[in-house]
Amino acid sequence: METKRTAIIGGGAAGFFLAINLKERCPQMEVTILERAGKVLRKVEISGGGRCNLTNTFEAVGDLKEVYPRGHRLLGRLFRQFDHRDAWQWFEQRGVPLVAQADHCVFPQSQDAHSIINLFLAEARRRGITIRTGCGVTSLDELADYDYICVTTGGQPRRNGLEWLGHELVEPVPSLFTLSIADERLTSLTGTVVQDAQVMIPGTKLRAQGPLLITHWGMSGPAILRLSSYAARLLAECGYKSPLLVNWCAINESEAATAIGTAMRTHAQKQIATLSPLALPQRLWAFLAEKALGQRAHAPWGSLNAKEQRRLANILTADNYAISGRAPHRDEFVTCGGVALAAVNPNTLESRTRPGCYFAGEVLDIDGVTGGFNFQAAWTTAYVVATDIARNYTLS
Ligand SMILES: Cc1cc2nc3c(=O)[nH]c(=O)nc-3n(C[C@H](O)[C@H](O)[C@H](O)COP(=O)(O)OP(=O)(O)OC[C@H]3O[C@@H](n4cnc5c(N)ncnc54)[C@H](O)[C@@H]3O)c2cc1C
Repeated sequence: METKRTAIIGGGAAGFFLAINLKERCPQMEVTILERAGKVLRKVEISGGGRCNLTNTFEAVGDLKEVYPRGHRLLGRLFRQFDHRDAWQWFEQRGVPLVAQADHCVFPQSQDAHSIINLFLAEARRRGITIRTGCGVTSLDELADYDYICVTTGGQPRRNGLEWLGHELVEPVPSLFTLSIADERLTSLTGTVVQDAQVMIPGTKLRAQGPLLITHWGMSGPAILRLSSYAARLLAECGYKSPLLVNWCAINESEAATAIGTAMRTHAQKQIATLSPLALPQRLWAFLAEKALGQRAHAPWGSLNAKEQRRLANILTADNYAISGRAPHRDEFVTCGGVALAAVNPNTLESRTRPGCYFAGEVLDIDGVTGGFNFQAAWTTAYVVATDIARNYTLS
């Protein structure tokens, strides 16, 4: 069979996974990874706090839309070719045992991203994949000598990082960020964690639930990161200035009123600010009680009038803040937007306008929430591309 050549632009998660799967099926194919930076797999190394949350068990996922705000339909289709179970098997069969945490996030048993990097580098070496670092590509035409071109250049924060690809684009904006909130009383509670809060953008259906962390710049934690993903485009459009509603205990207002009624009966003599009717951290409760009642927060529970009860229930379940900006988050950050899904064949990820050119990974307009979903999208899309190139190669 005639030797064919494949260039993979980008030596990240998707690029390596694609190269290895392709070379496994087509050992005669010449496969070259072209990486702009001096080092490959840099994001894998820092991912998951250095532990690499490489997929998820999906056990808590009802609808893919919850975890892939962009690209859920296409991924649902591609998961029939390669899903999280296949990924689990793929890594374990190649000598990297995995473990799932109680929160369904999957990590290497070693708890070290280097297990993944070492596997990729060893497989690439063993199979004769060429890796060229310091080799940035600026035009697909530079690679006219190759039979197949795979673009795995990852998320690009700006449009001009994607225009050279000559394909239809969806404006890139950041996703998975934390929120700045200019409220000194709130930020004085830095370090406070609420185990189950709901956050929402009023006037929209955008809401998320989970642990919330108060930081010195505003709010962070899984609930906020998830909301930032759902609201990535909306928040970008309004310059990261928007109202935010927080339900501190993820219950409705009438349930909160019931808990307040119970506290009034059972702790009538105790000061309101010193005893939370729901399991909230004490400092946060005192802050909320003062926000709702002012000095009356120091009165006894038994003295609350009906209007004050309603104010307390309201602040517990629909507390108003103003988002003043986007704050950087060091653990995870992905791009929403990229190469439009309409620009590729949904079964193969081959370009509709440039035959032989494929896209995989975060360069596509696919992104997920935290929890291993972004790497899973990289593995799946890379696998699908490798499969199609291998099929074309054997047919040729
Ligand atoms: C700090 C951090 C932690 C993360 N943790 C997790 C996690 O635990 N779990 C999870 O699922 N996701 C995580 N993510 C997201 C995940 O890392 C990405 O979604 C994933 O790396 C995307 O893979 P990719 O191969 O598409 O892109 P990348 O991994 O970004 O790789 C793209 C590569 O292409 C190269 N490149 C770009 N342009 C060119 C060019 N023109 N020519 C040549 N080379 C080029 C880049 O230098 C880069 O090496 C994290 C992200 C960050 C930033």
